Amino acid sequence: MFTSNFVGILDFLFPKYCVNCKKLGSYLCSDCFSYISFSEQNTNSRYFSAIAYKGVVRKLIFQFKYKPYLSDLRSVLSDLFYESLIQQEKFMQILETNPILVSIPLHKSRLQKRGYNHAQILAEDLAKRFGLSYVDLLKRVKKTLSQYGLKKDERRKNVAGAFVFINDKQQVIRDRYVFLVDDILTTGATINEATLVLQKAGAKNVWGLALARD
Ligand SMILES: [Zn+2]
Repeated sequence: MFTSNFVGILDFLFPKYCVNCKKLGSYLCSDCFSYISFSEQNTNSRYFSAIAYKGVVRKLIFQFKYKPYLSDLRSVLSDLFYESLIQQEKFMQILETNPILVSIPLHKSRLQKRGYNHAQILAEDLAKRFGLSYVDLLKRVKKTLSQYGLKKDERRKNVAGAFVFINDKQQVIRDRYVFLVDDILTTGATINEATLVLQKAGAKNVWGLALARD
């Protein structure tokens, strides 16, 4: 059992510093938390996002993706994700349809290099909190360039044909509503491409869920 004493020892051995201002105590101090802007509701959109991709949020997501702080930042980020989504009325309405959660996959080579898929981790945490199922339904078959720095049209071309549906999972998705999870939403090119694949495989409707909106 993890007693508070044990946690205290962990904090002593691995002290936590705020990723933004380096203050000792937690990965995100209360001052820096107050700089985070939560996303506005947009009832016509095919996407839901939690927070704006700027300032302290950029730093948090960068650390989550590239540095070995996985287990602690995971709860900070999935808390933010969850808390923002439950404020959004349209999201809560779709939740009533018992949707399944799916994540945008990484290419095998990138997954090996990084060790984990951050989008999958966020999706699994959300599934747990909402009492929904998380299922791996997509495979990334094309080694795409990073979307960073590409124009809207180039982004669409870059991810065209990047995903395939995992064939034996057809029963899982037929006539289901789906939340498709990614970390950052920019033009929506990646989520749109993966949505087409899921719809072709039989999904009734698909909405994108992004932790941060660029
Ligand atoms: Zn701080």
